[in-house]
Amino acid sequence: MTQAASPALIDDLVIANHILVNEGVLDGFGHISVRHDKNPERFLIARSMAPGLVSADDIVECDLDGQVFDERGRKTYVERFIHSEIFRVRPEVMSIIHSHSPAVIPFGVTGARLRPICHMSGFLGAQVPVFEIRHTAGESSDMLIRNQALGKALADSLGGSNVALLRGHGNVVVGTSIQQVVFRAYYTESNARLQSQAMALGEIEFLSPGEAEAAAQMNDVHLDRPWQVWKRRARHMSE
Ligand code: MN
Repeated sequence: MTQAASPALIDDLVIANHILVNEGVLDGFGHISVRHDKNPERFLIARSMAPGLVSADDIVECDLDGQVFDERGRKTYVERFIHSEIFRVRPEVMSIIHSHSPAVIPFGVTGARLRPICHMSGFLGAQVPVFEIRHTAGESSDMLIRNQALGKALADSLGGSNVALLRGHGNVVVGTSIQQVVFRAYYTESNARLQSQAMALGEIEFLSPGEAEAAAQMNDVHLDRPWQVWKRRARHMSE
C-alpha cells in the first residue's frame, strides 16, 4: 500500500496547472505530472479535465504502465503514456509537462530547428529532437500518444534531452522539479516566439552548447523567483 503523497506536492501541482494556463502554455488541453514522493513507480496528475479548473481533489495516481488508481474510478488523460513512459526511463525526471503551446508548433513541422536564442532557454541544449509519430502509428493516426508503444517511442526520441517536439501536435518538457519544468515550459514557448521573430530579421547567432549549459545551470539557482511571481499572478484561479 502506497503512502499518500505529500499535500505540499499536490498543492504545487495544482498551482502549476493554473500558472501554465495563466501564462499561455496550456489552454483547455495539456497536462503536468509529478512523480509520487513516496513511490517512484507512480506519478500524480489531474483527472481528465481542463487544467485551469484543477483543484487538489482532482489529482489522481497513475503507475508506470498508465494504470490509474482512484477510489472513485475517475479517469485521467488519454495521453498519460507520455508521462508513464518517460518516468520509466528517466529516473532523475520528477515532473513532466505536455502542451500544445502555439509558438512551438512551427518548429515541429518545418526544417527550422528550435535552438536556444537567449540565456533563459539554455536548457534547450544544442538542438531539440522532433518526434515523428508516423514511424510508430502509421499514416492515419489521430496524432495522440494514446498507448504504451507510442509513449515509449516518444521517450526514445526525447532521449536525454529536456524538451522534445511532437510534429503537428505540441511538445513535452521534463525537469527535476515542478518549479523547474514550469520554468522550462514557459521559456520553451518564449524561445520559439523570439526565434520566429529573429528568423524574419536575419541569420541568428544562437547560444553555443557551452553557453547553453552554463546559462541553464545559472537559471536553476533562481527558479523560485519567477515561480513566486507566476504563482501570485495565477492566484485568482484558485479562489
Ligand atoms: Mn496533446
